[in-house]
This record gives sequence, structure tokens and C-alpha cells, in this order.
Amino acid sequence: GVNLYLVPTPIGNLKDITLRALEVLKSVNVILAEDTRTTGILLKHLEITNSLQSYHIFNEHKAAEKLVERMKRGEVFALVSDAGTPAISDPGFLLVREVIAAGLEVQTLPGPTAFVPALVNSALPNDRFVFEGFLPHKKGRKTRIEALIEESRTMVFYESPHRLLKTLEQLAEAFGADRQACVSRELTKLHEENVRGALSELIEYYQSNPLKGEIVLTVAGKAEQKESREEKRAAKYGK
Ligand code: SAM
Repeated sequence: GVNLYLVPTPIGNLKDITLRALEVLKSVNVILAEDTRTTGILLKHLEITNSLQSYHIFNEHKAAEKLVERMKRGEVFALVSDAGTPAISDPGFLLVREVIAAGLEVQTLPGPTAFVPALVNSALPNDRFVFEGFLPHKKGRKTRIEALIEESRTMVFYESPHRLLKTLEQLAEAFGADRQACVSRELTKLHEENVRGALSELIEYYQSNPLKGEIVLTVAGKAEQKESREEKRAAKYGK
């Protein structure tokens, strides 16, 4: 049987909870939450009265060890984060790794996560893409951006509203101001907004429209140099 379930929760719209998520949250022995207050409010809304325990990222190693012991004794857990899919730019990775290493069973339920609707809404190519999560705030930020200069796949970033403008400016400097991008704000919520355009246009827009809410930034990859038909033929036939 499964020892640990990872259960996605809504990223805004409370209707975005799956039937299976409800079933699992009701059936486990303990729900582990990033923030018991936030999850408490959600569980109350869903009329779930299961027991709730906090799962902190600080000291995650020690916490994971203790939980694995309890799983070995038969307790079944569900991990949830404040919003979206646990372990995606949220706590959970270490716990999953420890549980697997102990020979126990993990199951992640599919469900809400911010980067998928953002990527699709962006209307940028999504047959291949890279999820970059949050850029480092200070140390390593420039290096990370520079490492993406040659990236040809669409890139998806999580970003906080007060840092977005700075990020747009830094990416414009590194990738060129005419690179296409999309800012997805407040996905699934009442004031959802997807603003598409060149980085320069987005910079202009957000200089005059102050930002609030949660944001995913999607940026087109570097255009691959397409060989023309003539060039291909020349390469093949040597003329
Ligand atoms: N685990 C979450 C997931 O599966 O998407 C991500 C957690 S991360 C700490 C929070 C970030 O996700 C926010 O800063 C924002 O970049 C993004 N995010 C979460 N909800 C969002 C929403 N409704 N609209 C846009 N972005 C959102």
C-alpha cells in the first residue's frame, strides 16, 4: 500500500480540488501541512476533520526521518502545501527521497500547479520547456540568468510581484528586449490576467500598472537558426 500521498490543493479557485484528493485527505491517518493554519482553513471549507500536523522545511531532514519511522509502523500520511502541488517550489522533495530510500511507497496525485496553465496560456511553444522555479534573489542570480542565454526551450519562472520588474529588465538585458514573454497573474482567481508581449512591452506595461498577486513568468527560448531550404541543399550536395 501507499505510505505517503502528495496531494495538490487549489492555487486560487477552491473548486480545483479533485474527487480523489478529497478521498485521500479523508482516508489518511495524518495530513502533513506546510502551514497548518492555511490548510486548516481549506480543510474546514472541504468539511474534512482529519488530524493535521505541520511539516517544516527548516529541519526537514530530521522531520523526514521521524515520519519514515512512523510509516514503517503503519501510519499513512498525506503531504499538502499552501497551494498547488507539494514539492514543486515547495517542501516535499526530501521527504519523498527518504521515503523511497526506505523502500516505502509514494504516490503523487495529479492536480493544481501554477506553471502548467501559465505555460499553456502564454501561447509560446510548449512541446519542450524548462521549469526554472524561483531565480536566486541575490547570490547566483546573474550566473543563473547567463546560463539561460542559449536556452532554446520556453522557460517558466515563479516570481514575486515586487521583483518582477527587475527580473524583466535583467532578462531583457540578457536575452534582448524583443524576446516574447507572458506574465500570468492570479491564475484561477477572479482577477486572472495573462499579459503577452515582448519583454520591452511588458516592462513598459508594469512600469505604469503596479503589480499585485501571484505571478508566473513565461519566456520564449532563443530562436534556433533555421537553415533555409537552399542552405540545406547546399550542405547536402555541396553547392
Ligand atoms: N507548489 C506550487 C505549485 O505547484 O505551483 C508553487 C508554490 S511557490 C511557493 C508559489 C509561487 O507559485 C508563487 O510565487 C507564484 O509564482 C506561483 N503561483 C502560485 N499560485 C499562483 C496563481 N494563482 N497565479 C499565478 N502564480 C501562482
